[in-house]
Amino acid sequence: MEVGLFGKPTVINNVETLVNVLAILEGGPGGGARFAATGTEGSTGPKLFCVSGNVVRPGVYEVTFGMSIRELLDLAGGVPGGRSIRAILLGGAAGMFVGPEVLDTPLTFEGTRAINASLGSGVVMVFDETADMVGTLRRIAAFFRDESCGQCVPCRVGTVRQEELLSRLADRVEVRTQAEELALLADIGQAMRDASICGLGQTASSAIESAMRQPELVAL
Ligand code: SF4
Repeated sequence: MEVGLFGKPTVINNVETLVNVLAILEGGPGGGARFAATGTEGSTGPKLFCVSGNVVRPGVYEVTFGMSIRELLDLAGGVPGGRSIRAILLGGAAGMFVGPEVLDTPLTFEGTRAINASLGSGVVMVFDETADMVGTLRRIAAFFRDESCGQCVPCRVGTVRQEELLSRLADRVEVRTQAEELALLADIGQAMRDASICGLGQTASSAIESAMRQPELVAL
């Protein structure tokens, strides 16, 4: 017999998933089919997106799968002052930075996969032309350094080395050339991806490396 927490029936899931179940059940006969008919073929139903950063109306937006990044940002009022977008972080700290050239990408599993990104946690964080990108990357690195539980070496050491390296680049402390620093950053990321025990270490370099691969986003 399977039992959950404290011997009781237990469902471990996020609120968004459970709310979708409610919509299906309340739809009565055929509710599941109607739910499955919304969105796109590969991404059905509604989806919550947490829009933050340089937008007029940050917040959580529930939209049908398939809306483009541009349309979602329009819902959030666009960038204040009409400034241009430098970068968008999709999927949160373990996600990917993309540039403004992908604004027309549909926010679906398949759409974001096609631009080598992911929906992840549903975060869409906007950075305009005035954003301090290196400072942002340092904060992401500090977050992973703090969150590493220390059980395995690649993550415990890699997250610290990653943050140190970004701090050197930001503060222009030269112990090796910039090209060598970027190669080292890629090596650290690869080691964490290959050898960390859990998803935290395996994704601790994802957003940082994605930004570093696009120099126009970071402006070192
Ligand atoms: S990868 Fe996971 S288990 Fe390993 S140190 Fe990081 S948080 Fe802990």
